[in-house]
Amino acid sequence: MGYEGKIYRPWTEANSLLIQTTLGCTNNKCTFCDMFMEQRFRIKGVDEIFRDIDQARQMYPHVESIFLIDGNVLAVKTGFLLQVLEKVATTFPECERIALYGGLNDFKRETADKLAQLKQAGLTMAYAGLESGDRVTLERFKKGMTPEQAVKGMDPGPLPAQIPGKVFGDNSVKEH
Ligand code: SF4
Repeated sequence: MGYEGKIYRPWTEANSLLIQTTLGCTNNKCTFCDMFMEQRFRIKGVDEIFRDIDQARQMYPHVESIFLIDGNVLAVKTGFLLQVLEKVATTFPECERIALYGGLNDFKRETADKLAQLKQAGLTMAYAGLESGDRVTLERFKKGMTPEQAVKGMDPGPLPAQIPGKVFGDNSVKEH
């Protein structure tokens, strides 16, 4: 299996098998984050992803949970993601959870119907960083998202989302 760059996952995915589907983050500009600074966003080739899945199958006899990395895997087109999810489902029939990172904007790029397709194909959770609901704070941090988009993104329809809260800064706690 091949992993490129630094690898991140939420602590709740500590026991998950990691399948690298993308590299980096589609935004990669947030001023507080250096996770993928050295990495330009790209989607791995489907052959490469499938090879990693097959190799993981040979290494791990029982896998209950899979986390697709890197940042913003939900930004990938639905058709591509469905191929990956279907490959995971057929290769790891015992797997009960498949999760990934997604920007709140990424939920809105998909219709509810497409999110439902992803859920049906086995995707059980998306993690998204809200960071703030304050316009000035979002602009200051270069989050690439407006408060309105953040509010819309918090209602991702059929797909459960975990949205960790963060409090940054100093004087703007109330607005934040
Ligand atoms: S969107 Fe997330 S991963 Fe990307 S730069 Fe911002 S905080 Fe970091």
